[in-house]
Amino acid sequence: MAMYSHSRVSTYENCPYQYKLRYIDKIRVEIPTTIEAFMGSMVHQALEDLYKKKKFKKRIAKSSLIKFYRDVWDKNYSDDILIVKAEKEGLKADNYRKMGERFLSDYFDRMKPFEEMTILGLETQDRMTLPDGNQWHVRIDKLGCDDKGNYYVCDYKTNARMKDQEEADADRQLAMYSIWVQDKFKDAKSVKLIWHMLAFNRDAVSERTDEQLEKLQKEICNKIKEIESATEFPRNQTALCDYCVYKEQCPSFSHGAELDKKPTIKEFKDDEGVKLVDEFSEIKKLLYDLKKREERLRGSLVEFAKQKKIDTIYGSNMKASVKEFDKIVMPEDKEELIALMKKKGIWDDFAAINFMKFQSGVVKGNVEDDVVRLVEIVKAWRVSVSKKKAGGEVEGE
Ligand code: SF4
Repeated sequence: MAMYSHSRVSTYENCPYQYKLRYIDKIRVEIPTTIEAFMGSMVHQALEDLYKKKKFKKRIAKSSLIKFYRDVWDKNYSDDILIVKAEKEGLKADNYRKMGERFLSDYFDRMKPFEEMTILGLETQDRMTLPDGNQWHVRIDKLGCDDKGNYYVCDYKTNARMKDQEEADADRQLAMYSIWVQDKFKDAKSVKLIWHMLAFNRDAVSERTDEQLEKLQKEICNKIKEIESATEFPRNQTALCDYCVYKEQCPSFSHGAELDKKPTIKEFKDDEGVKLVDEFSEIKKLLYDLKKREERLRGSLVEFAKQKKIDTIYGSNMKASVKEFDKIVMPEDKEELIALMKKKGIWDDFAAINFMKFQSGVVKGNVEDDVVRLVEIVKAWRVSVSKKKAGGEVEGE
Protein backbone atom coordinates (compact mmCIF):
# COMPACT_ATOMS: atom_id res chain seq x y z
CA MET A 1 0.00 0.00 0.00
CA ALA A 2 1.32 3.39 -0.94
CA MET A 3 1.41 6.82 0.70
CA TYR A 4 -0.71 9.43 -1.05
CA SER A 5 -1.13 13.10 -0.39
CA HIS A 6 -3.07 16.03 -1.74
CA SER A 7 -0.01 17.07 -3.71
CA ARG A 8 0.53 13.59 -5.18
CA VAL A 9 -3.06 13.26 -6.39
CA SER A 10 -3.04 16.85 -7.72
CA THR A 11 0.13 16.09 -9.69
CA TYR A 12 -1.69 13.24 -11.47
CA GLU A 13 -4.73 15.43 -12.12
CA ASN A 14 -2.61 18.28 -13.51
CA CYS A 15 -0.33 16.16 -15.69
CA PRO A 16 -0.25 12.34 -15.64
CA TYR A 17 3.15 12.41 -17.37
CA GLN A 18 4.66 14.54 -14.62
CA TYR A 19 3.18 12.09 -12.12
CA LYS A 20 4.89 9.20 -13.88
CA LEU A 21 8.27 10.95 -13.88
CA ARG A 22 7.99 11.87 -10.22
CA TYR A 23 6.26 8.95 -8.53
CA ILE A 24 6.80 5.97 -10.83
CA ASP A 25 10.14 6.61 -12.52
CA LYS A 26 11.23 8.43 -9.35
CA ILE A 27 13.38 10.86 -11.28
CA ARG A 28 15.16 13.15 -8.88
CA VAL A 29 15.59 16.73 -10.03
CA GLU A 30 16.81 19.83 -8.32
CA ILE A 31 13.79 21.84 -7.29
CA PRO A 32 14.66 25.53 -7.27
CA THR A 33 13.19 27.67 -4.51
CA THR A 34 11.24 30.67 -5.71
CA ILE A 35 11.23 33.88 -3.70
CA GLU A 36 7.48 33.41 -3.11
CA ALA A 37 8.01 29.94 -1.60
CA PHE A 38 11.01 31.14 0.39
CA MET A 39 9.09 34.05 1.91
CA GLY A 40 6.17 31.70 2.71
CA SER A 41 8.51 29.28 4.43
CA MET A 42 10.15 32.02 6.56
CA VAL A 43 6.73 33.36 7.57
CA HIS A 44 5.67 29.82 8.57
CA GLN A 45 8.80 29.41 10.69
CA ALA A 46 8.23 32.74 12.43
CA LEU A 47 4.60 31.86 13.26
CA GLU A 48 5.59 28.42 14.47
CA ASP A 49 8.10 30.03 16.81
CA LEU A 50 5.51 32.51 18.03
CA TYR A 51 3.04 29.78 19.01
CA LYS A 52 5.79 27.69 20.57
CA LYS A 53 6.69 30.63 22.79
CA LYS A 54 3.03 31.05 23.65
CA LYS A 55 2.79 27.36 24.56
CA PHE A 56 5.74 27.62 26.90
CA LYS A 57 4.32 30.83 28.39
CA LYS A 58 7.21 32.89 27.15
CA ARG A 59 6.79 36.60 26.58
CA ILE A 60 5.54 37.37 23.09
CA ALA A 61 6.34 40.70 21.48
CA LYS A 62 5.82 41.84 17.94
CA SER A 63 9.41 43.05 17.78
CA SER A 64 10.74 39.58 18.66
CA LEU A 65 8.47 37.97 16.01
CA ILE A 66 9.83 40.33 13.34
CA LYS A 67 13.39 39.85 14.60
CA PHE A 68 13.02 36.07 14.39
CA TYR A 69 11.71 36.43 10.82
CA ARG A 70 14.58 38.71 9.79
CA ASP A 71 17.13 36.36 11.36
CA VAL A 72 15.83 33.23 9.60
CA TRP A 73 15.59 35.18 6.35
CA ASP A 74 19.25 36.28 6.59
CA LYS A 75 20.40 32.83 7.67
CA ASN A 76 18.64 30.96 4.85
CA TYR A 77 18.61 33.42 1.97
CA SER A 78 20.92 32.53 -0.91
CA ASP A 79 21.53 33.95 -4.36
CA ASP A 80 20.16 30.89 -6.14
CA ILE A 81 16.62 31.67 -4.99
CA LEU A 82 14.56 32.39 -8.10
CA ILE A 83 13.03 35.82 -8.37
CA VAL A 84 12.16 35.56 -12.08
CA LYS A 85 8.39 35.92 -11.79
CA ALA A 86 8.72 38.63 -9.16
CA GLU A 87 11.14 40.60 -11.33
CA LYS A 88 8.61 40.60 -14.18
CA GLU A 89 6.35 42.51 -11.82
CA GLY A 90 9.19 44.85 -10.86
CA LEU A 91 9.70 43.25 -7.44
CA LYS A 92 12.96 42.39 -5.75
CA ALA A 93 13.83 40.02 -2.91
CA ASP A 94 13.69 42.90 -0.45
CA ASN A 95 10.09 43.67 -1.45
CA TYR A 96 9.20 40.10 -0.49
CA ARG A 97 11.07 40.35 2.78
CA LYS A 98 9.10 43.49 3.67
CA MET A 99 5.86 41.88 2.49
CA GLY A 100 6.47 38.99 4.91
CA GLU A 101 7.12 41.45 7.72
CA ARG A 102 3.84 43.19 7.01
CA PHE A 103 1.94 39.87 6.96
CA LEU A 104 3.39 38.98 10.37
CA SER A 105 2.81 42.42 11.83
CA ASP A 106 -0.86 42.48 10.69
CA TYR A 107 -1.42 38.92 11.90
CA PHE A 108 0.13 39.77 15.27
CA ASP A 109 -2.14 42.80 15.75
CA ARG A 110 -5.24 40.88 14.73
CA MET A 111 -4.63 37.70 16.74
CA LYS A 112 -2.93 38.91 19.93
CA PRO A 113 -3.06 37.65 22.72
CA PHE A 114 -3.14 34.41 20.63
CA GLU A 115 -5.77 32.75 22.76
CA GLU A 116 -8.08 31.94 19.88
CA MET A 117 -7.58 28.24 20.61
CA THR A 118 -5.55 25.78 22.65
CA ILE A 119 -2.69 24.76 20.44
CA LEU A 120 -2.47 20.98 20.00
CA GLY A 121 0.17 20.89 17.31
CA LEU A 122 2.37 23.00 15.08
CA GLU A 123 3.56 21.71 11.70
CA THR A 124 1.88 18.41 12.68
CA GLN A 125 2.84 15.47 10.48
CA ASP A 126 1.00 12.16 10.53
CA ARG A 127 -0.60 9.58 8.28
CA MET A 128 -4.05 8.09 8.18
CA THR A 129 -5.30 4.89 6.63
CA LEU A 130 -7.85 5.27 3.84
CA PRO A 131 -10.71 2.75 3.45
CA ASP A 132 -8.78 1.12 0.56
CA GLY A 133 -5.78 0.53 2.83
CA ASN A 134 -3.60 3.24 1.30
CA GLN A 135 -2.06 5.88 3.53
CA TRP A 136 -2.82 9.60 3.36
CA HIS A 137 -0.20 12.10 4.42
CA VAL A 138 -1.31 14.69 6.97
CA ARG A 139 0.53 17.97 7.50
CA ILE A 140 -1.13 20.75 9.45
CA ASP A 141 0.43 24.19 10.08
CA LYS A 142 -1.56 24.84 13.27
CA LEU A 143 -3.95 22.48 15.01
CA GLY A 144 -6.04 23.60 17.94
CA CYS A 145 -9.26 23.17 19.90
CA ASP A 146 -11.43 25.02 22.38
CA ASP A 147 -13.27 23.83 25.48
CA LYS A 148 -16.53 23.38 23.54
CA GLY A 149 -15.18 20.52 21.45
CA ASN A 150 -14.47 22.62 18.36
CA TYR A 151 -11.27 21.69 16.57
CA TYR A 152 -9.38 23.96 14.19
CA VAL A 153 -7.21 22.91 11.27
CA CYS A 154 -5.31 26.02 10.18
CA ASP A 155 -3.18 26.76 7.15
CA TYR A 156 -1.12 29.91 6.59
CA LYS A 157 -1.33 31.27 3.08
CA THR A 158 0.89 34.01 1.68
CA ASN A 159 -0.78 34.04 -1.79
CA ALA A 160 -1.62 37.31 -3.43
CA ARG A 161 -5.13 36.02 -4.17
CA MET A 162 -7.88 35.79 -1.59
CA LYS A 163 -9.52 32.38 -1.27
CA ASP A 164 -13.26 32.84 -1.70
CA GLN A 165 -15.91 30.79 0.08
CA GLU A 166 -16.61 28.57 -2.91
CA GLU A 167 -12.94 27.69 -3.18
CA ALA A 168 -12.61 27.07 0.56
CA ASP A 169 -15.67 24.79 0.51
CA ALA A 170 -14.19 22.82 -2.39
CA ASP A 171 -10.65 22.50 -0.98
CA ARG A 172 -9.69 18.85 -0.67
CA GLN A 173 -6.49 19.16 1.33
CA LEU A 174 -7.78 20.52 4.62
CA ALA A 175 -11.07 18.64 4.28
CA MET A 176 -9.17 15.34 4.35
CA TYR A 177 -7.51 16.48 7.56
CA SER A 178 -11.00 16.82 9.11
CA ILE A 179 -11.31 13.06 8.82
CA TRP A 180 -7.97 12.62 10.57
CA VAL A 181 -9.03 14.98 13.40
CA GLN A 182 -12.34 13.15 13.90
CA ASP A 183 -10.47 9.89 14.06
CA LYS A 184 -7.83 11.11 16.51
CA PHE A 185 -9.99 13.22 18.80
CA LYS A 186 -13.18 11.40 19.61
CA ASP A 187 -14.60 14.40 21.52
CA ALA A 188 -14.51 16.58 18.38
CA LYS A 189 -17.96 18.14 17.90
CA SER A 190 -16.88 20.18 14.91
CA VAL A 191 -13.78 20.64 12.78
CA LYS A 192 -13.31 24.09 11.32
CA LEU A 193 -10.93 24.53 8.43
CA ILE A 194 -9.21 27.91 8.52
CA TRP A 195 -6.96 29.50 5.95
CA HIS A 196 -5.16 32.52 7.40
CA MET A 197 -4.88 34.62 4.23
CA LEU A 198 -1.97 36.70 5.46
CA ALA A 199 -1.81 39.09 2.49
CA PHE A 200 -5.38 40.18 3.29
CA ASN A 201 -5.20 39.77 7.08
CA ARG A 202 -8.44 37.79 6.87
CA ASP A 203 -9.47 34.18 7.28
CA ALA A 204 -11.35 31.89 4.93
CA VAL A 205 -13.31 29.34 6.96
CA SER A 206 -15.09 26.17 5.93
CA GLU A 207 -16.64 23.15 7.61
CA ARG A 208 -17.75 19.82 6.14
CA THR A 209 -20.64 17.55 6.99
CA ASP A 210 -20.06 13.82 7.59
CA GLU A 211 -21.75 13.08 4.26
CA GLN A 212 -19.43 15.46 2.42
CA LEU A 213 -16.40 13.86 4.04
CA GLU A 214 -17.60 10.39 3.18
CA LYS A 215 -18.14 11.45 -0.42
CA LEU A 216 -14.71 13.08 -0.54
CA GLN A 217 -13.02 9.98 0.85
CA LYS A 218 -14.76 7.85 -1.78
CA GLU A 219 -13.66 10.24 -4.54
CA ILE A 220 -10.06 10.07 -3.32
CA CYS A 221 -10.13 6.26 -3.24
CA ASN A 222 -11.58 6.20 -6.76
CA LYS A 223 -8.91 8.58 -7.97
CA ILE A 224 -6.19 6.41 -6.40
CA LYS A 225 -7.72 3.38 -8.12
CA GLU A 226 -7.61 5.26 -11.43
CA ILE A 227 -3.96 6.22 -10.83
CA GLU A 228 -2.95 2.70 -9.89
CA SER A 229 -4.61 1.13 -12.90
CA ALA A 230 -3.34 3.74 -15.40
CA THR A 231 -1.27 2.32 -18.22
CA GLU A 232 -0.89 5.56 -20.14
CA PHE A 233 0.33 8.83 -18.72
CA PRO A 234 -0.41 11.55 -21.29
CA ARG A 235 1.19 14.96 -21.10
CA ASN A 236 -1.12 17.80 -20.25
CA GLN A 237 0.33 21.07 -21.44
CA THR A 238 -1.04 24.00 -19.47
CA ALA A 239 0.24 27.26 -18.00
CA LEU A 240 1.56 25.12 -15.12
CA CYS A 241 4.28 23.77 -17.45
CA ASP A 242 6.08 27.10 -16.85
CA TYR A 243 6.80 25.93 -13.30
CA CYS A 244 7.39 22.23 -14.06
CA VAL A 245 10.77 20.96 -12.86
CA TYR A 246 10.71 18.04 -15.30
CA LYS A 247 11.02 20.07 -18.50
CA GLU A 248 14.35 18.40 -19.33
CA GLN A 249 12.66 14.99 -19.15
CA CYS A 250 9.43 16.02 -20.89
CA PRO A 251 9.36 15.35 -24.67
CA SER A 252 7.31 18.53 -25.15
CA PHE A 253 9.97 20.73 -23.58
CA SER A 254 13.30 18.87 -23.52
CA HIS A 255 14.55 20.28 -26.83
CA GLY A 256 13.76 23.80 -25.63
CA ALA A 257 15.56 23.08 -22.34
CA GLU A 258 18.57 21.81 -24.32
CA LEU A 259 18.58 24.99 -26.42
CA ASP A 260 18.39 27.17 -23.30
CA LYS A 261 21.80 25.80 -22.39
CA LYS A 262 23.42 26.87 -25.68
CA PRO A 263 25.91 29.55 -24.72
CA THR A 264 25.80 31.57 -27.96
CA ILE A 265 23.19 32.56 -30.56
CA LYS A 266 25.37 30.89 -33.20
CA GLU A 267 25.27 27.54 -31.40
CA PHE A 268 21.53 27.97 -31.00
CA LYS A 269 21.05 28.73 -34.71
CA ASP A 270 23.33 25.81 -35.69
CA ASP A 271 21.10 23.30 -33.93
CA GLU A 272 19.61 20.89 -36.48
CA GLY A 273 16.12 21.13 -34.96
CA VAL A 274 16.17 24.95 -34.96
CA LYS A 275 17.16 24.94 -38.64
CA LEU A 276 14.35 22.52 -39.57
CA VAL A 277 11.66 24.40 -37.69
CA ASP A 278 12.82 27.76 -39.03
CA GLU A 279 12.71 26.50 -42.61
CA PHE A 280 9.39 24.71 -42.14
CA SER A 281 7.71 27.74 -40.59
CA GLU A 282 9.13 29.98 -43.33
CA ILE A 283 7.58 27.70 -45.97
CA LYS A 284 4.25 27.65 -44.13
CA LYS A 285 4.28 31.45 -44.07
CA LEU A 286 5.11 31.61 -47.79
CA LEU A 287 2.28 29.19 -48.61
CA TYR A 288 -0.13 31.20 -46.50
CA ASP A 289 0.89 34.44 -48.26
CA LEU A 290 0.63 32.77 -51.65
CA LYS A 291 -2.85 31.49 -50.85
CA LYS A 292 -3.94 35.01 -49.91
CA ARG A 293 -2.38 36.37 -53.11
CA GLU A 294 -4.16 33.71 -55.17
CA GLU A 295 -7.52 34.66 -53.61
CA ARG A 296 -6.89 38.35 -54.26
CA LEU A 297 -5.95 37.67 -57.91
CA ARG A 298 -8.99 35.45 -58.43
CA GLY A 299 -11.18 38.36 -57.31
CA SER A 300 -9.37 40.79 -59.60
CA LEU A 301 -9.76 38.42 -62.59
CA VAL A 302 -13.51 38.16 -61.97
CA GLU A 303 -13.78 41.97 -61.77
CA PHE A 304 -11.74 42.37 -64.98
CA ALA A 305 -13.90 39.82 -66.84
CA LYS A 306 -17.11 41.48 -65.61
CA GLN A 307 -15.96 44.95 -66.70
CA LYS A 308 -14.90 43.74 -70.16
CA LYS A 309 -17.92 41.43 -70.45
CA ILE A 310 -15.60 38.56 -71.43
CA ASP A 311 -15.11 35.04 -70.03
CA THR A 312 -11.50 34.41 -71.09
CA ILE A 313 -8.49 36.56 -70.22
CA TYR A 314 -5.24 36.05 -72.08
CA GLY A 315 -1.78 36.13 -70.51
CA SER A 316 1.71 35.68 -72.06
CA ASN A 317 1.63 31.88 -72.12
CA MET A 318 -1.60 31.01 -70.38
CA LYS A 319 -5.21 32.10 -70.45
CA ALA A 320 -7.68 32.30 -67.59
CA SER A 321 -11.26 31.17 -67.96
CA VAL A 322 -13.74 33.09 -65.79
CA LYS A 323 -17.17 31.45 -65.63
CA GLU A 324 -20.16 32.25 -63.48
CA PHE A 325 -21.81 29.19 -61.92
CA ASP A 326 -24.64 28.38 -59.53
CA LYS A 327 -23.48 27.48 -56.06
CA ILE A 328 -25.81 26.32 -53.32
CA VAL A 329 -25.54 27.65 -49.77
CA MET A 330 -26.44 25.06 -47.17
CA PRO A 331 -28.92 26.04 -44.43
CA GLU A 332 -27.42 26.59 -40.98
CA ASP A 333 -29.67 23.96 -39.44
CA LYS A 334 -29.27 20.98 -41.76
CA GLU A 335 -31.54 18.56 -39.92
CA GLU A 336 -34.71 19.32 -41.88
CA LEU A 337 -32.81 18.96 -45.17
CA ILE A 338 -31.24 15.66 -44.11
CA ALA A 339 -34.56 14.27 -42.88
CA LEU A 340 -36.25 15.16 -46.16
CA MET A 341 -33.43 13.68 -48.25
CA LYS A 342 -33.64 10.47 -46.25
CA LYS A 343 -37.41 10.37 -46.68
CA LYS A 344 -37.03 10.77 -50.42
CA GLY A 345 -34.40 8.03 -50.50
CA ILE A 346 -31.68 10.28 -51.96
CA TRP A 347 -29.54 10.69 -48.82
CA ASP A 348 -27.16 7.84 -49.68
CA ASP A 349 -26.48 9.42 -53.09
CA PHE A 350 -25.08 12.58 -51.60
CA ALA A 351 -23.92 11.84 -48.04
CA ALA A 352 -20.23 11.48 -47.31
CA ILE A 353 -18.39 10.25 -44.23
CA ASN A 354 -17.23 13.08 -41.97
CA PHE A 355 -13.66 11.81 -41.90
CA MET A 356 -12.35 13.94 -39.02
CA LYS A 357 -15.31 13.07 -36.81
CA PHE A 358 -15.11 9.39 -37.71
CA GLN A 359 -11.35 9.26 -37.08
CA SER A 360 -11.71 10.93 -33.72
CA GLY A 361 -14.58 8.54 -32.80
CA VAL A 362 -12.52 5.48 -33.73
CA VAL A 363 -9.38 6.65 -31.91
CA LYS A 364 -11.32 7.59 -28.78
CA GLY A 365 -13.08 4.22 -28.76
CA ASN A 366 -16.53 5.71 -29.39
CA VAL A 367 -17.24 3.54 -32.44
CA GLU A 368 -18.38 -0.05 -32.08
CA ASP A 369 -15.82 -2.80 -32.70
CA ASP A 370 -17.55 -4.39 -35.70
CA VAL A 371 -17.35 -1.02 -37.51
CA VAL A 372 -13.74 -0.40 -36.49
CA ARG A 373 -12.84 -3.87 -37.79
CA LEU A 374 -13.50 -2.64 -41.33
CA VAL A 375 -10.86 0.09 -41.18
CA GLU A 376 -7.11 -0.11 -40.72
CA ILE A 377 -5.42 1.93 -38.03
CA VAL A 378 -1.87 2.94 -38.88
CA LYS A 379 0.63 5.27 -37.19
CA ALA A 380 0.93 8.69 -38.83
CA TRP A 381 2.63 11.95 -37.91
CA ARG A 382 1.13 15.39 -37.63
CA VAL A 383 3.51 18.34 -37.67
CA SER A 384 2.24 21.76 -36.71
CA VAL A 385 4.07 24.94 -35.91
CA SER A 386 3.04 27.57 -33.42
CA LYS A 387 4.60 30.48 -31.58
CA LYS A 388 6.79 29.42 -28.67
CA LYS A 389 4.68 31.48 -26.28
CA ALA A 390 0.87 31.63 -26.58
CA GLY A 391 -0.05 32.93 -29.99
CA GLY A 392 -1.76 32.09 -33.26
CA GLU A 393 -1.15 28.54 -34.46
CA VAL A 394 -0.12 28.04 -38.07
CA GLU A 395 -1.02 24.50 -38.91
CA GLY A 396 0.75 22.11 -41.26
CA GLU A 397 0.70 18.41 -41.99
S1 SF4 B 1 6.32 20.27 -18.74
FE1 SF4 B 1 4.07 20.23 -18.70
S2 SF4 B 1 3.52 18.49 -20.00
FE2 SF4 B 1 5.67 18.25 -19.48
S3 SF4 B 1 5.69 16.96 -17.66
FE3 SF4 B 1 5.73 19.06 -16.98
S4 SF4 B 1 3.57 19.58 -16.61
FE4 SF4 B 1 3.61 17.74 -17.90
